[in-house]
Amino acid sequence: MSERERTILTAEQALSMLGDGTSVHTFRQAENMLIGADWDRCKIEQFIRDCVCELGGDQCRAVNHGLVVHANGPLFVKCREGLDYEAFETSTGSHESEPAAVAQCTIPKWSSGQPLDLNQLAAEVNAMNRNWWLDVNTGEPIERNRAELLCLIHSEISECLEGVRKGLMDDKLPHRSAEAVELADALIRILDYAGGFGLDLQGAFEEKMAYNATRSDHTHEHRRAEGGKRF
Ligand SMILES: [Mg+2]
Repeated sequence: MSERERTILTAEQALSMLGDGTSVHTFRQAENMLIGADWDRCKIEQFIRDCVCELGGDQCRAVNHGLVVHANGPLFVKCREGLDYEAFETSTGSHESEPAAVAQCTIPKWSSGQPLDLNQLAAEVNAMNRNWWLDVNTGEPIERNRAELLCLIHSEISECLEGVRKGLMDDKLPHRSAEAVELADALIRILDYAGGFGLDLQGAFEEKMAYNATRSDHTHEHRRAEGGKRF
């Protein structure tokens, strides 16, 4: 980012920088590389409304990704063609020399007090695993087979079983148990699937948790009774 004064944008200003279309290209920094991904426009608009946005510096303007949205780290968002970035520097946005604070998001909070939005997490995991959804030779998007992806989820659970059965540590992360890492693999696969197919995982999770709390067949009394679930 350049040494020019930082320009914090209003949500209206940031939204006005987007081009047309239902998807928006983004870059995110991951360790020492940039990961590019196409995001659903509605999700980007939600981030813009919930998070701090600022005008990017010369490098990201040069590739026309001069809108920076601070959503779990800076997300460099593609802007409409021919955008006059400098016009925003003299507009009504505030100017700060200190790093922007991340805005409080409006996503639900759980008993821990921490925000948790499985749909947001699924979209991010899917974006980070974008190559799983592209042809290995052409780089073009491919239609993934649901059954194949579901098999990959339960193959991670099977790997977890073997880890527990043999008391193994993980071979890639040898300081961690295979049990924990394979469950993480399964979660990554599940979130990628939900993000890739646009499932409302958050809504289903909340409603199923609430429903399970009402189930009589899950009570100890019912399970002790004749015909109750033994495990
Ligand atoms: Mg695995």
